[in-house]
Amino acid sequence: MNLKVVVIEKQGKVTIVKCGYCRGGGSAGWGKCSVCGGVGVITLVCEEPETPIVKCGYCGGGGSAGWGKCSVCGGVGAVPAFGKYKIRRAVRTG
Ligand SMILES: [Zn+2]
Ligand SMILES: [Zn+2]
Repeated sequence: MNLKVVVIEKQGKVTIVKCGYCRGGGSAGWGKCSVCGGVGVITLVCEEPETPIVKCGYCGGGGSAGWGKCSVCGGVGAVPAFGKYKIRRAVRTG
């Protein structure tokens, strides 16, 4: 399994990464992925622009820890290298 962080788009403070929980497929087990809402990608909004996005060290990029979502990255599988950030669900634009 490839657990590398897949950055889809990066622009200033905003980075769009592939959802680690569903691996971009939009579904997790029995239904829609609860991390990305089925979109397959997640938007990270960092406090500082051009913050590098790295693999979550706790879940190893898979977005899950034990039975549920990783509490460190919220299931995204990726975290900014430093600073504060917000997780926003991306909207599929086409
Ligand atoms: Zn997902
Ligand atoms: Zn994690």
